[in-house]
Amino acid sequence: MKIAITVDELLLWDGTPMPGGYSASSVTDALLGAFADNGVNGVYGFAHTAPLEDDPSNREVLDRWVDSGHHLGNHTHCHACLNWVTGEQYVDDIKRSEDFVGDLIEKAPRKYFRYAMDMTGDSEEKRGRVEDHLSSAGYANAPITAWFGDFAWIAPYWRAVEGGDHDAARMLRASYIEAAVSRLKGTSEAQYRILGTEAPLIWLIHGTSIAQDCIAEILARFREAGAEFVGLDDAMSHPVNRVMTPVTPAFRNHLQRLAATVGIDVPTTISDERMASVLTTGLADGESPFAVYDDLISRMSTRAGGTIADWSWT
Ligand SMILES: [Zn+2]
Repeated sequence: MKIAITVDELLLWDGTPMPGGYSASSVTDALLGAFADNGVNGVYGFAHTAPLEDDPSNREVLDRWVDSGHHLGNHTHCHACLNWVTGEQYVDDIKRSEDFVGDLIEKAPRKYFRYAMDMTGDSEEKRGRVEDHLSSAGYANAPITAWFGDFAWIAPYWRAVEGGDHDAARMLRASYIEAAVSRLKGTSEAQYRILGTEAPLIWLIHGTSIAQDCIAEILARFREAGAEFVGLDDAMSHPVNRVMTPVTPAFRNHLQRLAATVGIDVPTTISDERMASVLTTGLADGESPFAVYDDLISRMSTRAGGTIADWSWT
């Protein structure tokens, strides 16, 4: 099982809760350390750049990432999903990101772009407008084919750590690691059913506080499961990672869009029942587990000049 590890949001979205004692810098330290310990080199990070506009000192994190031998790709400025904005607005957002990290993007062996949320839009026309820009600007797409819904642990982990609930924090770390490992295996199996062969997976983790505490164990468990870490270029040499998948308004990654064309479902994360117990950790009765995440996407969309007409997390 070959895996190219990628990291999104070394700087998290505006409004993302983070427990005291954690920072983008401490999360990055943990990622860099775990990668060095496991021989994971040349990892592409994809960071939207609005946090650099809000606080230029955040740039230190990205500089350190690149100085450590890893690479940075373009992930838009505001992180708005293409569904929420026009093609023009999206292209402007890609260009705006270059104002902040264009020099770092140019340092990478290859210029990569990752669609925000790995969502390539809800119409061929709109995606075509973006794709035209990407190819003229020299970008290759870096899709995601393996993820585990890791962002869902952000708010529960913040509540558990901030509230000093050690049992809850322990449960969350265990379920997070289990989700990462079980989804990697499940995704690899699903990919085999779709293709009839193996292809390198492009795996996503976000730069969250729980990632800081779990990345070392996740990489160890991946190795136990037979994972071989490869670079993004290696993974992108397989045509299945380069095909254009059908457009869809749904929150699906590259492999899931491909799977849908042959009627195969690739589950995103742990069972609904277990996810419900994660999401509601530390919540009072009646509080919505999605409120934090709904607020984040609302901020992204507004900042990019868009609107969210219709949205489902599933
Ligand atoms: Zn992202």
